[in-house]
Amino acid sequence: MKRVLVTGGAGFLGSHLCERLLQDGHEVLCVDNFFTGRKENISHLLGNPFFELMRHDITFPLHVEVDQIYNLACPASPIHYQFDPVQTIKTCVHGAINMLGLAKRTRARILQASTSEVYGDPSVHPQTEDYWGHVNPLGLRSCYDEGKRSAESLFFSYHRQSGVEIKVARIFNTYGPRMRPDDGRVVSNFIVQALRGEDLTLFGDGSQTRSFCFVADLIGGLVSLMESDSEVTGPLNIGNPVETSMATLAQTILELTGSPSQIRYLPLPTDDPRQRCPDITRARTQLGWSPTIPLQEGLEHTIGYFRQNLQI
Ligand code: NAD
Ligand code: UDP
Repeated sequence: MKRVLVTGGAGFLGSHLCERLLQDGHEVLCVDNFFTGRKENISHLLGNPFFELMRHDITFPLHVEVDQIYNLACPASPIHYQFDPVQTIKTCVHGAINMLGLAKRTRARILQASTSEVYGDPSVHPQTEDYWGHVNPLGLRSCYDEGKRSAESLFFSYHRQSGVEIKVARIFNTYGPRMRPDDGRVVSNFIVQALRGEDLTLFGDGSQTRSFCFVADLIGGLVSLMESDSEVTGPLNIGNPVETSMATLAQTILELTGSPSQIRYLPLPTDDPRQRCPDITRARTQLGWSPTIPLQEGLEHTIGYFRQNLQI
């Protein structure tokens, strides 16, 4: 049994990760400031004697004793990370410094939830880990993109300078139960709109692509990376390499929900990446990991979750 800290543990991915780590027999300390996280995501874990919840903002130092740290704290949806861009950068940078300092003192292994956004609007397709990216350093997304890039740089600096054992996962778009109805990301938006009979808000002409990974697959990838040999630092792309256009996604969700909703075309947000698809060769070879849940199956689970949880 290890003592595992999960920052952002009350969020979408964090809550699934806490659940998985408890199932694997670990003691879990969930730290969250509830900016986008919700108590109901982890309320079913509160009675477990091996689970502890702490309200804390990782931009401030944290003194605890742990063996492993998963650093997931950071809003992930563009509308939420752009709501308070300075706090987003602080969470990425000060949060990384605080968690790396904690890892250094406790000799804990630490995993960073980085993102495909480090590739920006990519000119290399599919994206491999050695591609340096194409990021607008001043734009509205930069608080997140550059924050996450700085965090990666901090992770490798602490590794080289202080020997901290690091793991960097570049997570591609992930979806599933426990996304907030007001999360703002495309899968939850389209499902909620379809179930409420509202227009689906399709930005641009819908030809931009993303590659969607179901949450259970993603969590498996993060745990495999954390448990991998110490030479495996990453960065490793963790995602599902099946690419879909947003127009096709909208159509699929309309079909799966049987919704009479229409599609409403809205302007494309600035710096919205045109295409995104992970090359997961490294994850396959270094971790023996690859996703197994097809989009349609994952969407059915997610639609089932929202049907149960939305007050319609
Ligand atoms: P989320 O918004 O549901 O979860 C983030 C959690 O972090 C929330 O519980 C929030 O309250 C908490 N948090 C934010 N700032 C904090 C702070 N300063 N101190 C403590 N807690 C804080 O998002 P998610 O989808 O679960 O994403 C989790 C992580 O994975 C993020 O770091 C995100 O950048 C990364 N990621 C997610 C995706 C995805 O598709 N879900 C893709 C790429 C990267
Ligand atoms: N998108 C959309 N309608 C929405 C929300 C998002 O068409 O209601 C588009 C968005 O412009 C982008 C894609 O869906 O091209 C994925 O957006 P999301 O915010 O989920 O993630 P990210 O852009 O960070 O990959």
